[in-house]
Amino acid sequence: MNKQEELFEISKKLVPGGVHSPVRSFKGLKCTPRFMARGDGAYIYDIDGKEYIDFCMSFGPLILGHQDRVVKEKIVQALNNGWSFGTCEPYSVELAKLIIEKIPHLEQIRFVNSGTEAVMTALRLARGYTGKNKIVKFNGCYHGHTDSMLIKAGSGLAGTSEASSKGITKLMAEDTLIVELNDLAALDDCFKHFGNDIAAVIIEPLPANNGLLIQDLDYLKGVREITKKNKSLLIFDEVISGLRVAFGGMVEKTKIIPDITTYGKIIGGGMPVGAIAGKSEIMSFLAPIGPVYQAGTLSANPLAMVAGIETLKQLTSDKYKLMKENTQKIIKLFERWFKEYNGSEFKMMNAVSDESLFWFKPVKESIKSADKIPSNLMEHFVPMFDILLKKGIYLAPNAYEVGFVSTAHNENVIADLEKRLFS
Ligand code: PLP
Repeated sequence: MNKQEELFEISKKLVPGGVHSPVRSFKGLKCTPRFMARGDGAYIYDIDGKEYIDFCMSFGPLILGHQDRVVKEKIVQALNNGWSFGTCEPYSVELAKLIIEKIPHLEQIRFVNSGTEAVMTALRLARGYTGKNKIVKFNGCYHGHTDSMLIKAGSGLAGTSEASSKGITKLMAEDTLIVELNDLAALDDCFKHFGNDIAAVIIEPLPANNGLLIQDLDYLKGVREITKKNKSLLIFDEVISGLRVAFGGMVEKTKIIPDITTYGKIIGGGMPVGAIAGKSEIMSFLAPIGPVYQAGTLSANPLAMVAGIETLKQLTSDKYKLMKENTQKIIKLFERWFKEYNGSEFKMMNAVSDESLFWFKPVKESIKSADKIPSNLMEHFVPMFDILLKKGIYLAPNAYEVGFVSTAHNENVIADLEKRLFS
């Protein structure tokens, strides 16, 4: 047993499944989780000192790579003043100003500690604002682990649902309606049956948690129209896509304006942050001025706010352009490797990408809904992941997770990737 396996055995005794978030568990893969000791730029190092090019990047927040020099310097400066006050402080004002000035559809923002918290609050706010109860969610979109979002499609009418986790009440499941992506008729149908009581439709405008299921612009526009027509709110969950595909996320790219937007990941530069944002008319329903309660001991934590400020300040349009170009170079290398790979462990994979996100799938055709993802995806991913890990290339340890490219994945890293792939 090596050092990593030993540590995992100890961790399993102390922690359920040995991990603090299931996706870290390497479930279904050929080896136990790598225990990381350090990150630097586009690289991550395990406790045995093995170096990997990191395409997981903490599942997205580290858009500037590990230990960006400026972010680190400012965090350390803030640390010298204390790391939690539980009072008003100037950092959150600066981050709020920075975001609201640059993302025109937003008027107010509330910081929380995670994407899950942001979504949980957004749903409560939508219910409080509209006075309606039900939420429509799309099959294959992930919105964190709040009860009402851990729901899968039921077998009855379009939109019916059941819990996908134990511990969720039937009543809770009944208030979440599930519809397939890329199917406006199904959404319309759902509104025909439950329309009077639908508070909001929540969608990842760039679904990136069940593969990368890029939606057509017309479809997203259709979702906006249907929600407007039925006086329901539209929630864009931009926890991944916000500040990732452009500073203004999918709102900037599609010009579709949702009623509420949720953020996480990049907004805290790698520290625990989430946010709910929108027009003041809706946001003012939140406590202490409105009737919808929301709170947090560590919300707008000073160090997290500073990490967010210093990360966001560096996200210029040049950086987005460069990340997109480098992502193209990276996936071309992988695709060449797939073509030339002549082992029998896995069949050809194909890459799909949007800006600095990518995903590998075992079919050429584009996939727009979760029900079209080939059921044999894992059969190809498991050996591919293992071979890449041995070459010092770290993908997110799950076939359905996307890859993340940062500003630190520069020409030198791309040359290194080529060397590792083809040696
Ligand atoms: N929403 C989306 C779109 C996400 O991708 C995630 C996490 O990956 C969440 C919500 C939940 O965020 P967190 O893991 O910070 O709770």
